[in-house]
Amino acid sequence: MPLHLAGKNVLVVGLARSGSAAARLAARKGAHVTVTDRRGAGELAGALAPLEGLGFSLALGGHDEAHFTSADLVVISPGVPFSLPPLAAAKRAGVPILGEVEFAWRLLGNLPVVAITGTNGKSTTTALTGRLFQEDRAAFVGGNLGTPLSELALEGKQVDVAVVELSSFQLEGIERFRPRVAAILNVTPDHLDRYPGMDSYAAAKARLFENQQPGDVAVANERDPGAMAAARSSRGEVVTFGFGPRAPMSARDDGEVVRFTGPTGEPERYRIRSRALRGRHNRENAMAALTCARIMGVPGPAVQRGLDGFPGLPHRLELVAERGGVEWVNDSKATNVDSTAVGLAAFPAGTPSVILLLGGRGKQSPYAPLAPLFPGRVKALLTLGEDAPAIERALGGLAPTESCGDLPTAVARAARLAAPGDVVLLSPACASYDQFRSYEDRGETFRRLASAAPVP
Ligand code: ADP
Repeated sequence: MPLHLAGKNVLVVGLARSGSAAARLAARKGAHVTVTDRRGAGELAGALAPLEGLGFSLALGGHDEAHFTSADLVVISPGVPFSLPPLAAAKRAGVPILGEVEFAWRLLGNLPVVAITGTNGKSTTTALTGRLFQEDRAAFVGGNLGTPLSELALEGKQVDVAVVELSSFQLEGIERFRPRVAAILNVTPDHLDRYPGMDSYAAAKARLFENQQPGDVAVANERDPGAMAAARSSRGEVVTFGFGPRAPMSARDDGEVVRFTGPTGEPERYRIRSRALRGRHNRENAMAALTCARIMGVPGPAVQRGLDGFPGLPHRLELVAERGGVEWVNDSKATNVDSTAVGLAAFPAGTPSVILLLGGRGKQSPYAPLAPLFPGRVKALLTLGEDAPAIERALGGLAPTESCGDLPTAVARAARLAAPGDVVLLSPACASYDQFRSYEDRGETFRRLASAAPVP
């Protein structure tokens, strides 16, 4: 159902990237737009710049309920909680409330959408899926990752498909959003600060499938009960991926090749050999991506080319330097123990060859779950940052351990310890804020230091 916005009063709540794009889109469609944010103009300078001169009404530094109840439509950014009191008032007043994704989607016509969600791996899978499509056709890649869907609607660029990453927050704001293919990677406890419990978090994720119709496809990770339950709620066909026995419509990884059987029933084989896709978690992401692409008709050879050429995303097991037979891998996005566990497990056990850099601002969760991954893998543990003492207490007995204090010291030490065949892995299991502005800043610093480190 198209949205008619000309002459309507549209209130956009939250002025981050998505909100800003939605506001410009609404204005382009002839609406009178008011933007509101809890933050004041001083804090929002960057976000306000693109709106300048476009005739928006601004209601900053808090929310005025009257703006909500008098609007014809409220569009909310993903960062804005649905529990915001003036939203309840708008609802009582019968004002429709749409998330930014729903809003943009309604203005995109019949563009086929591939949507990806999950607790972990969304960005990697979305970027990879986009890459596979781009081997064959014009594809927009965005959503929660990178460019908001509203930007696509604004640009009016002709594309054949949109591949969008959706967080559970964005899924709360959908109404009729109907992805042709929707994939769910996993549902594990996260964001429980925003949800009363696992059930409501899982329910938010399952909304991805609620408008699918027969002929649409739901893709899900077979080993994850939450993901499978969500996908089974779809009226579309369920296609699974995983490491288990073969299923009629599925992608199956036997460790060597991925065997994919799609609607034609003809088995196909793919290889996942890019170093950007190391680890079982990335093999799952790759299976999800190739399943989406094949279902939408991207030819097999294009899929294989895309898998081989995928450069990976920065700060996620990113190879930032390779010198003298030593790989320097930046996994700075691993800001918790679970992420470090999947990152570390991506390197084979056998001869210990990983020099592991751990530490930063701890998140009060135990480091012990990393212990089983040390034997046969970790050649040395180098600690840094505030939580170094806790890390050393938990793991120090498992590999030669040195307390380095900061990243430059740890990199210099790693360069002296590394021999050809070794991997220096920054996968800190901690937040970065004690010594860096962000995990990106930490990863960039590592990249710079690693590129300049002496060759063994
Ligand atoms: P998201 O966008 O969901 O945060 P990313 O692709 O940015 O996901 O990956 C973030 C981190 O999550 C990675 O650094 C890795 O540690 C972990 N991860 C990625 N894919 C998976 C997966 N399929 N299963 C479990 N953990 C994963």
